[in-house]
Amino acid sequence: LAKEKGKNNYQFYCSQLNETMNRKMLLETELRNAIEKNQLQLYYQPKIDLKTRKLVGMEALLRWQHPTLGVIAPSEFIPIAEESRQIISIGEWVLLTACKQNKLWQNSGLPHLSVSVNVSVRQFQDSDFLLTVKRVIAESGLDPQYLELEITESIMQNMNESLLILTGLRKLGVKLSIDDFGTGYSSLHVLKELPIDTLKIDKSFIDNISDPKNQSMVKTIIDLGLNFNLNIVAEGIEHEHQAQVLSSFNCNYGQGYLFSKPIPTEQFNHLLIQIKIGGSTLGCKSTNF
Ligand code: C2E
Ligand code: MG
Ligand code: MG
Ligand code: MG
Repeated sequence: LAKEKGKNNYQFYCSQLNETMNRKMLLETELRNAIEKNQLQLYYQPKIDLKTRKLVGMEALLRWQHPTLGVIAPSEFIPIAEESRQIISIGEWVLLTACKQNKLWQNSGLPHLSVSVNVSVRQFQDSDFLLTVKRVIAESGLDPQYLELEITESIMQNMNESLLILTGLRKLGVKLSIDDFGTGYSSLHVLKELPIDTLKIDKSFIDNISDPKNQSMVKTIIDLGLNFNLNIVAEGIEHEHQAQVLSSFNCNYGQGYLFSKPIPTEQFNHLLIQIKIGGSTLGCKSTNF
């Protein structure tokens, strides 16, 4: 009986593995023409000044709307795109779309804000990356100071090579940000070695900010960053008390559902118009700032 059961488990395991493989292969294939079929879209999440609660920028976040599979989350398709190297062309599309959109907003007299774009390590380490960024800046006409690239600590695995690319990007005039800061193995080295402008404290630290140990960790990261003259962004702020604690620690900026979820281009456009005419703030508590 045990043997029989073992066999069933094995078959079950195999069919599950098969399903996962099939889904991966399906997504990889479907992703190949997602750009031409207009299935990719950028959403924008507001970035807020924690003291004034004013909008200071936005992060572009990729969405894949498939006609039959529905909305596929970046956490599922980005790793597939990285493995198949499709991330190079997808990443280029993201960069160009975000820069063109930001330029469009600026040209229509809306506030000049900076747009942050996520960059995968695979994409970052591609030999053409610098050239691509240069071309995107030229093609979009966006002043490079309004483009910020978000990379993760994992670029430290190729320190010397990464340093060269970062220096090149700096020369182009774009801003550099370390995303998910504190979750890697080399957080302190990042600070010491890399020419960056911004640290984004990972959501996991913000989630448990009421825990004393976690709170002193967050405070230490903020102090450390400020000592290095960096901007600090806290990600995943969902509750007012998190914003209060972070602000009391002099964390400059924040993003999170408390202020706004990532929203489609059209909706972000409305937000910008509202802000232009009313100077309104985000996050209910401080409309009287
Ligand atoms: P990330 O860059 O760290 O982005 C933050 C993620 O947290 C986003 O998820 C955002 O929607 C979500 N988030 C923001 N505020 C809150 C909050 O208050 N609560 C909760 N629960 N979540 C919040 P999303 O859009 O699903 O993206 C996930 C990850 O996928 C991103 O993490 C980024 O690493 C990657 N990604 C997204 N777009 C791109 C892209 O265009 N290129 C690349 N290479 N990666 C991307
Ligand atoms: Mg990011
Ligand atoms: Mg992040
Ligand atoms: Mg994160």
